[in-house]
Amino acid sequence: MRVVRSADGLYDRGMKHYDAIVIGGGLVGAAIAYGLVRQGLGTALIDEGDVAFRASRGNFGLVWVQSKGLGAPHYQRWTRLSAEEWPKLAAELGARTGVAVGLEQPGGVQLCLGEEEFAARHAMMEQMRGEAGNFGFDYRMLDRDELSEMLPGLGPKVTGGSWTPYDGHVNSLYLLRALHKGFAERGGIYIPNRTIDYAAAQPNDFRLGSGAAEIAAPKIVLAAGLGNAALAPLFGLNAPVRPQRGQILVTERTERVWPVPIGSLRQTLEGSIMLGASEEEVGFDTGQKPEVMGTIARRAVETFPFIAELQIVRAWSALRVMPPDGKPIYDESEKFPGAFTANCHSGVTLAGAHANVFAPMVAAGALDPMMMPFSAKRFDVPAAA
Ligand SMILES: Cc1cc2nc3c(=O)[nH]c(=O)nc-3n(C[C@H](O)[C@H](O)[C@H](O)COP(=O)(O)OP(=O)(O)OC[C@H]3O[C@@H](n4cnc5c(N)ncnc54)[C@H](O)[C@@H]3O)c2cc1C
Repeated sequence: MRVVRSADGLYDRGMKHYDAIVIGGGLVGAAIAYGLVRQGLGTALIDEGDVAFRASRGNFGLVWVQSKGLGAPHYQRWTRLSAEEWPKLAAELGARTGVAVGLEQPGGVQLCLGEEEFAARHAMMEQMRGEAGNFGFDYRMLDRDELSEMLPGLGPKVTGGSWTPYDGHVNSLYLLRALHKGFAERGGIYIPNRTIDYAAAQPNDFRLGSGAAEIAAPKIVLAAGLGNAALAPLFGLNAPVRPQRGQILVTERTERVWPVPIGSLRQTLEGSIMLGASEEEVGFDTGQKPEVMGTIARRAVETFPFIAELQIVRAWSALRVMPPDGKPIYDESEKFPGAFTANCHSGVTLAGAHANVFAPMVAAGALDPMMMPFSAKRFDVPAAA
């Protein structure tokens, strides 16, 4: 392990010193760590390893804007900002690492089965536009005829859908690989298969131990996904995230059929069609359930009957990192300045913002006031009298 900063007497012998430590090498931690090394900070990225629940290796790969932030305009803006940062991030990662993450942002469609779904969707999109205010929110409701032109193979039950120009998709495994490669190439130190045995926090002075190895830094970012719930209190933070299971099915490859990703269906660059994803409250159970898989497949076939002819070649489940209200948690510790936390259930979509906007705030030592609504303080409900 490289010593980034020489010992200054504050710490014990043998301790490795960095400018920043990020705990968690999933999409959130890797994007932030990449952003930090790009800011010139000597950064260590610690990851527990394959014993952990990793949403970053089991997700759907959407860069999805159109349903994010209903009733929470700050979240809508944050998601839009991330979608705007995405092309820069993808281009930079491609140029620096040679890993093409396969970003496409042609806009996206959410389909509706039946008039009731269509009306509810329309109301939701109208609310998003109202909440966007001067910032604007471009969307259209497409009727069946318009959709049929755009999406060949549409089933008879589809009544219409919503479209926004902001949505897209990406190969999220290549994204994870590119972030790690980019991090390492800029001098970041990746420390895998380490579970933290102890953590000591002082303002701008954090020490972590794992076995005999110890590391220290004046800044720390907790980005350990579901692991943040246990880690946060050690640093004066709160991250009450819970697991939410999602199951996904993947078909064999077929010719390119759709020009845009579709909410719960997307065709990869390689030609597979991904069908997903369930939303199940089953704790830390990562099992797969045939009845849930059946529901996913049935809805896909109702939407596009030709999917019935394709073989399912893969299926998996993974656990989302879900805050109580579904919106991201970003915080800085008042008790221990220099400690930050980051949790979200859309770590693919938000990678642009994490690398290009959040990491520079951490490097500067404080979150921008625009991040205040994301604080976990919003969960502090006064006890009933
Ligand atoms: C089925 C499904 C579909 C999804 N679809 C989408 C989508 O289409 N678009 C989108 O934007 N998002 C999607 N997501 C969400 C997205 O995958 C997550 O938001 C993102 O992966 C979260 O990344 P993370 O780094 O916070 O968590 P994780 O990927 O869980 O990574 C956390 C890491 O922290 C490490 N860790 C944990 N505890 C410790 C510890 N104590 N010490 C050291 N390391 C620790 C673990 O080893 C792990 O690698 C989906 C998720 C699921 C499950």
